[in-house]
Amino acid sequence: MSQGRAAVYEEPTGPSGVRIRERPKTDAAPGAVAVAIEAASINHLDLWLAHGAQRVAPPRVIAGDGAGVVQSSGDPAWRKGDEVVIFPTLCCWECDWCRAGENVKCARFGVLGEHSDGAACELIHIDARNIFRKPAGLTWAEAAAFPLTFLTAWRMLTTRAQLHADETVLVVGAGAGVAVAAISIAKHLGARVLATSRSEAKRQRALELGADAVFDSKDFSKPVRQATGDGVDVVFEHVGPATLEESMRSLALGGRIVTCGSTSGVKAEINVPRLFFRHAGLLGSTMGNAGEFEAVLKAIDAGLRPVVDSVYPLEEIQAALTRLDAAEQFGKVVLSVSTR
Ligand SMILES: [Zn+2]
Repeated sequence: MSQGRAAVYEEPTGPSGVRIRERPKTDAAPGAVAVAIEAASINHLDLWLAHGAQRVAPPRVIAGDGAGVVQSSGDPAWRKGDEVVIFPTLCCWECDWCRAGENVKCARFGVLGEHSDGAACELIHIDARNIFRKPAGLTWAEAAAFPLTFLTAWRMLTTRAQLHADETVLVVGAGAGVAVAAISIAKHLGARVLATSRSEAKRQRALELGADAVFDSKDFSKPVRQATGDGVDVVFEHVGPATLEESMRSLALGGRIVTCGSTSGVKAEINVPRLFFRHAGLLGSTMGNAGEFEAVLKAIDAGLRPVVDSVYPLEEIQAALTRLDAAEQFGKVVLSVSTR
């Protein structure tokens, strides 16, 4: 049986604990497809995993994002040679929530690369219902760069925060994959977009991507309020304790904070009177549903594009993870997997 390379989390020692190993290449089981991965991409989740923070028992193939070519199919809907991207939300597809289109509320909800082996490998086996046709306008690197972050940011801005075209959104921590996705999606939806970053270079990149104004991360609420009159309608959060107080102070009357992450720590204090006197909303969100993934694919067909920060060969997975660990990136760190 032929073997394929995979980036496998083996020890909770950070990037050094993820190593290239050989895995057997097998045919797809009924209901599943085997996809030869062309490109994958990594997320902060992979770092949590590598640092042992996710309580996932090794070994585990990492990465929630992947795109490639169907090699064998156990489902008549797909044939060898089809070019596909993977919907990274795991679910049972059969329960009442799944049937209602609410995959994220499934009792068996999970994330590709965390609750199952991920896409940083030459051949992945996955439920045929997690496969979607690759958008024709995207390179392989772009096709691997968008799924998890665009799905997450799309659900946050549309389903959860109900962002409207005549509203203003503030994206904190521009540079992170999900934040860069949020800037692009919010512009695509027609909203006014403000962004914060500690880095002058990242603020410049955010402007080039379409942000209408950018601010330094330190004490951003005052200049944001000065720039907007009363504050912003929506704050896009993923940082947590380090920014939440300033994010609350940046909200206009009736504004909403929507968050998908907490990279600066788990517990944060909030000013409760500010929450109720300002009629503010505090919304959580994680990943997204198949219907939301289809909406992202439609938006990509209409011109929405992901930002690829850098591309590493699969063998250099430790260097790729180290770049993410140092928060040096703007957009997505991609792994080139195919050797063709
Ligand atoms: Zn289910």
